[in-house]
Amino acid sequence: MLPFYENALALVKKAAKTGNFPQDLMTILEEPQSIHSVNIPVRMDNGSLRIFRGFRVQHNNAAGPYKGGIRYHPEVNMNEVKALALLMTMKCAVVNIPLGGGKGGIEVDSRKLSKKELEAMTRGYTRMLAPVIGPDKDIPAPDVYTDSTVMSWIYDEYSRVVGKDSPGVVTGKPIEIGGSLGRASATAQGGVYVLLELVKKLGKNPKDMTVAVQGFGNAGSFVAKLLYKEGFKIVAVSDSKGGMACLSGIDPVKAHTCKIDKQSVMECEIASEMFHVHGGADCRKVSNSELLTLPCDILVLSALENQVTSANAESIQAKIVLELANGPTNMEGDAILERRGILVLPDILANAGGVTVSYFEWVQNMKGEKWSEEAVAAKLKGKMVEAMGEVWSVSEQYKVGLRQAALISALRRLAPMVLGT
Ligand code: NAD
Repeated sequence: MLPFYENALALVKKAAKTGNFPQDLMTILEEPQSIHSVNIPVRMDNGSLRIFRGFRVQHNNAAGPYKGGIRYHPEVNMNEVKALALLMTMKCAVVNIPLGGGKGGIEVDSRKLSKKELEAMTRGYTRMLAPVIGPDKDIPAPDVYTDSTVMSWIYDEYSRVVGKDSPGVVTGKPIEIGGSLGRASATAQGGVYVLLELVKKLGKNPKDMTVAVQGFGNAGSFVAKLLYKEGFKIVAVSDSKGGMACLSGIDPVKAHTCKIDKQSVMECEIASEMFHVHGGADCRKVSNSELLTLPCDILVLSALENQVTSANAESIQAKIVLELANGPTNMEGDAILERRGILVLPDILANAGGVTVSYFEWVQNMKGEKWSEEAVAAKLKGKMVEAMGEVWSVSEQYKVGLRQAALISALRRLAPMVLGT
């Protein structure tokens, strides 16, 4: 199995070949423009000193300032951050926003840190990166295990370092300090808009479709709730500890309340009224690998990368895969899904709602404006529907799957900017 970056790059190269793009384009996009690696000293609550390793990769800024989330995870590494930064360049181009691609991360199990330690680590990371980030240079955002509170610390620390109030340095901030309405649910909402477009094209009715959601975190819990509202039946949800499957359907609002309360859906009582829609007799606990191959119409991947591979792609029973996570399907897995006629709404399209509303937040901050939730939702829908339409027509033109089509669509937009023509 190729490492994440090499895998992501191979997919982009394949699209560049199919779309007959000049070699110079790939020569430039093949490596990030800059890479920053920092060692952050943090005084722990017990008085000891610990060093945390952090990264920021700035992949390409031909379209605008670098943009991308910051991930706190024990397995964060340079290869992963490089891959995620490359995907950000592609993603911003698919939805046609004037931003480039970047990504950051710290190798840490943030759940084992106190709030004070987490804040000290975040502020340290910000101070070390302050010379290379900023509202016109590189704008971080939340990702796995980072949230609006972490963003507020970055905003505050960066403003202190540069001696100027700079809300535009990060997106995904709390609303009261310049965050955008609609940002928290944006990734999921964007995914729902593209999925509904696909369902419409296929002539299906959401009420007849079942959904399994891997990764019941920020993106996953919002998507389950939004799809439930649209009439889809949620039949399984999971988190890092495992999952629950209920053939007769799960009420995602109740399930999420339970997850927040008990830390994991695995701790929720199957028979509890809180969890299921009907009696719960047909509910059972499932392993993370089992969830992926459950019978359902739509599999939502909203956990981490490399979940669908050659090891399980033959066993996937869903007919549509919605990739809210970044890189959840590797190249071999992708080829198998394509051969089997399973439609994949690829990450750079399906989860682009997050960066799109991040862009809206940044515009509001730069112009000193405050948009209503309805205005944000309407603009987001416009962007996602337009991107989906374009990707669909590229897929018909080149007779390729939606992932290759999304990458070709991105490269088309990037080529003149990157090559300066
Ligand atoms: P999150 O930390 O809120 O949620 C991740 C969830 O996945 C957690 O509930 C975790 O327990 C679960 N998980 C981890 N490993 C798992 C496994 N093997 N099986 C099942 N569940 C597992 O993070 P998030 O912000 O929702 O991000 C999820 C994915 O979406 C990431 O790939 C991220 O890069 C991508 N994404 C997020 C955003 C955003 O705005 N938050 C935007 C674009 C893409």
